[in-house]
Amino acid sequence: MDSTGLAPLPSSLVLSLGGTIAMASQAEGQAGVTPRLTAADLVAAVPELAQEAVLELLDFRQVPGAWLEVDDITALAELLNTQAASGTAGFVITQGTDTLEETAYLLDLLYDGAAPVVVTGAMRNSQMAGADGPANLLAAVRTAVSAQARDLGVLVAFADELHAARHVQKVHSTSTAAFQSPGAGPIGHLVEGRPRFHFTLRRHAPLGLPMAHPAAVEVVEATLGSSGLLLDAAIEHVDGLVIAAFGGGHVPRTWVERLGKLAARIPIVLTSRTGAGSVLTHTYDFGPGSETDLFSRGLISGGGLEPRKARLLLLALLRLGADQTSIREAFETRS
Ligand code: ASP
Repeated sequence: MDSTGLAPLPSSLVLSLGGTIAMASQAEGQAGVTPRLTAADLVAAVPELAQEAVLELLDFRQVPGAWLEVDDITALAELLNTQAASGTAGFVITQGTDTLEETAYLLDLLYDGAAPVVVTGAMRNSQMAGADGPANLLAAVRTAVSAQARDLGVLVAFADELHAARHVQKVHSTSTAAFQSPGAGPIGHLVEGRPRFHFTLRRHAPLGLPMAHPAAVEVVEATLGSSGLLLDAAIEHVDGLVIAAFGGGHVPRTWVERLGKLAARIPIVLTSRTGAGSVLTHTYDFGPGSETDLFSRGLISGGGLEPRKARLLLLALLRLGADQTSIREAFETRS
């Protein structure tokens, strides 16, 4: 309590990375928006924030989501780890929604603090009627300083829903309800402005930093009758591959010999392109291209991780110097 008899407000660090939430047009009447607003601009649009937390602000990047790099997010994770150790109650990250599901998941793999990390953004830019950025920012700050959100890893606050980084996906290109957790559902909601959690998730140990080894991992998607041209192109250039397979984990039969040869050399993770549900292990055994066949050729199961998240897990493991055995083990426990 301070001299007013009120409990002091918690501290929260708001880091702005750009994205639609920070976009405005360059000049009045000009069509097309670019990232221009600072963290201070975003906070100034939400007077209610003054009652929620003492905010520290940092303009970490000012780019569209599509320009963010893995190294931007590892640098962000390093900063969060340091700040969490020095007592910040919670973190809010505002960024472009295009890559939000990926940055949230990568941060979740690398962040080692207990203080909540809440990622948010907006689907309508700051000049549009009904811009959703201010409400999303308020929800994110309220969640970031909530005791209930501690130790849950990285969360996404969007449209009054709270999603676990592990499950969240952008499922619509324009809707303000673009973020969902297919196959899992939101971990919580904002009710009368306060976070309410429906369940918690077991948190995995952080993978660790720094990610010192260079590595390249790409996703190749199975499509009807594909000749595997992209597979051939990838073979020369990647250290790991993720296959976004049909359904429960199936590929065209013309792919399997190449996949088997490649799997002897680099890790290949089998995921489903469907967006929800897990790849199977032994349900189908129709020969070349069934999940049973692919695992017998050395592919690694991506379990329920959708392809983009499996790529980030594999990339992080390779960049940390993991060998095939520990990559397999990591996918067994984290997917
Ligand atoms: N193009 C934008 C971005 O990711 C989309 C958004 O933020 O909603 O930067």
